[in-house]
Amino acid sequence: MDPERIVVRCCIAGGGPAGMMLGLLLARLGIEVLVLEKHADFLRDFRGDTVHPSTLEVMHELGLLEDFLKLPHDEVATLYGQVGPTTLQVADFRHLPTHCKFVVLMPQWDFLDFLAGAAKRYPGFRLRMQAEATELMEAEGCIVGLRVRTPEGALEVRANLVVAADGRHSLLRSQAGLEVIDLGAPIDVLWLRLSRHAGDPGQTAGRFDTGRILVMLNRGSYWQCAFVIRKGGFEAIRAAGLPAFRETLASLAPHLADRLDELASWEDVKLLTVRVDRLRRWHRPGLLCIGDAAHAMSPIGGVGINLAIQDAVATANLLGQPLQHGAPSKRELEAVQRRRRFPTVMTQGLQVIVQNRVIDRVLGGAATTRLPWILRLVRRFPALTRLGARMIGVGFRPEHVSKATPRPSARSG
Ligand SMILES: Cc1cc2nc3c(=O)[nH]c(=O)nc-3n(C[C@H](O)[C@H](O)[C@H](O)COP(=O)(O)OP(=O)(O)OC[C@H]3O[C@@H](n4cnc5c(N)ncnc54)[C@H](O)[C@@H]3O)c2cc1C
Repeated sequence: MDPERIVVRCCIAGGGPAGMMLGLLLARLGIEVLVLEKHADFLRDFRGDTVHPSTLEVMHELGLLEDFLKLPHDEVATLYGQVGPTTLQVADFRHLPTHCKFVVLMPQWDFLDFLAGAAKRYPGFRLRMQAEATELMEAEGCIVGLRVRTPEGALEVRANLVVAADGRHSLLRSQAGLEVIDLGAPIDVLWLRLSRHAGDPGQTAGRFDTGRILVMLNRGSYWQCAFVIRKGGFEAIRAAGLPAFRETLASLAPHLADRLDELASWEDVKLLTVRVDRLRRWHRPGLLCIGDAAHAMSPIGGVGINLAIQDAVATANLLGQPLQHGAPSKRELEAVQRRRRFPTVMTQGLQVIVQNRVIDRVLGGAATTRLPWILRLVRRFPALTRLGARMIGVGFRPEHVSKATPRPSARSG
């Protein structure tokens, strides 16, 4: 059977934060855009549920913030760290120069559904769920489209620009032969969920103890917990058994001890492998990689979604006009990488320092009787909590939505 064929100005593979935001922004500029998402819905647990002040600022610039904040969410204005017996504030978002002076915690599927709803108001926007990009189509050295698998059969999409927003295991970036710089990650993360009781502390906090780290996000009725482990260490933890794992958690957060039987089996503990890398070149003629596909982020600071959104804003700002007329040139694609490389390199650099100098040492059994130097500095100069908030909440080189007026849909061709 012949494949279904679609011609579109821009085709985005991946309906994560980067792909959905770019789809919305291009459609808003009147560009015909098709977003392909391989899953049937956005429902996946522990995808990273933080929406940072800079992303909320983008929502404000799009006129969507008020409606967005009507969705059920939690707001975190300060972050705490607990090292051994000492608790101290590490980030204070209340002084940021943004409309929202807090991080929103919201299931990522609600965020993505919201973006999809906003994008569908523009006639040029199309979203195909259960559509998995399987192959780049190439002609004379230029990417000209994608082969796609759907439940209805094969689909071929021809586009002036293909955007790979297919995440940190990106198939498209490897098919394109783009070179990956691997920065290494000595950690993995175990995610789990435990109910939150009246009388529990209210703070979203990280707890560091000799050989162990637990980050607890206050999600109202439950705690979303990230237990950080040495890379590849999950098998040994499983082999030691669930009772031993529960004991470890209880020693880090004694107030959780009365509900650890909610972890009935290892099914309740999800392993997420961490990698930190970036592409040397983010593009080829006809193809651009953004978000984790261009630079997989560590969970440290919870900034990956934020960077993915910022990439999308920069891409729409820089390529919106070229896409109105046809295919962006090599120079125009390079401009996106030039714009976003600096924040990526700086953020990953900081993540790698924290990963290797603080987290790896704690997991290696370094005693936590003494605060790491960086936290001693924060305790001495509390104003530094504002700097921490700035780096986590806004990041380097924040992007702003271009003021270009929305236009009727630009047709492909
Ligand atoms: C353990 C861990 C915890 C994290 N926690 C946080 C956090 O709390 N806050 C935070 O900001 N960041 C967090 N991050 C990072 C964050 O998840 C990513 O940086 C962010 O999701 C990147 O967005 P993206 O749109 O580029 O990619 P993704 O979110 O990975 O989205 C890619 C999308 O593409 C789809 N897809 C993949 N292949 C194809 C294909 N071939 N065809 C069609 N669709 C495809 C996928 O189904 C997915 O929906 C965490 C990362 C890890 C590893």
